[in-house]
Amino acid sequence: KPVYLNGRYLPIEDAHISVLDRGFLFGDGVYEVIPAYRGRLFEFEAHMARLDNSLACIHIGNPHSLEEWRGIFAPLLEDGTDQYIYLQITRGAAPKRDHLFPEHVAPTVFALSAAIPPYPARGTGIKAVCLEDSRWEHCHIKAITLLANVLLRQEASEYGGAEAILIKNGFVTEGSSSNVFAVIDGVLLTPPLSDGILSGITRQVILKIAETGHIPCREQAISIEDLKRADEVWIASSIREIVAVVELDDLPVGDGKPGPVWQSMNRLFQAYKQSS
Ligand code: PMP
Repeated sequence: KPVYLNGRYLPIEDAHISVLDRGFLFGDGVYEVIPAYRGRLFEFEAHMARLDNSLACIHIGNPHSLEEWRGIFAPLLEDGTDQYIYLQITRGAAPKRDHLFPEHVAPTVFALSAAIPPYPARGTGIKAVCLEDSRWEHCHIKAITLLANVLLRQEASEYGGAEAILIKNGFVTEGSSSNVFAVIDGVLLTPPLSDGILSGITRQVILKIAETGHIPCREQAISIEDLKRADEVWIASSIREIVAVVELDDLPVGDGKPGPVWQSMNRLFQAYKQSS
């Protein structure tokens, strides 16, 4: 199956970039992960709006229009199965290594599609571990610079956790690669948007369908103490969708099973996916 690199479709073995690419040297780039169900891009406009924002934050002009992007992705999705697009844009390859932005260098644009892997833990829930949020202050940018996220995810895994829930100044920010929700006193809560978290597209969908499904819901800061007494905790991301955290730092969340609000939300989400 071909991948897309700078205007061409190539076998992945033939897709090469320069060792001077600023993505490689500096992590100087942004990315998107866009699910496509039955070959149809899910929440395409929302993903592209977030891409626009990420690019603007790092002062790279968007090299393509919405319709051009659609055209670029289409040949990667031809078999009509459930896949995701991984799109990465870097500041390109400059003639020499220099922190300063190079002039007259075209961005590197790379995209591939891959099957959405089955996630059997969606039914049973996962274990998560709370860790101190050691990332930088611009986490609203979907930057490829993910070293802190990688280290945190690895640390969580060494404690037997499938995700790290990150804590900054005593409050939840997000997961190492997901947003966090909690059901506390009958209300579904998620931390409000700030420079400290990514505006997850799954998070946006949850907030939208909670309203139509009459699930009481608020964007509100969640302290670590409140998280620990929550009846339900979930993580949400494009690839894993919505997953209940049934064990947090070795203690059960609620009765240690995915809770009733998760059941309702997961049903709403699956129906929304089907209809879009
Ligand atoms: N936060 C972080 C740090 C992430 O890496 C991700 C997944 N890319 C998310 C939140 C969830 O975003 P989305 O729902 O758009 O996949």
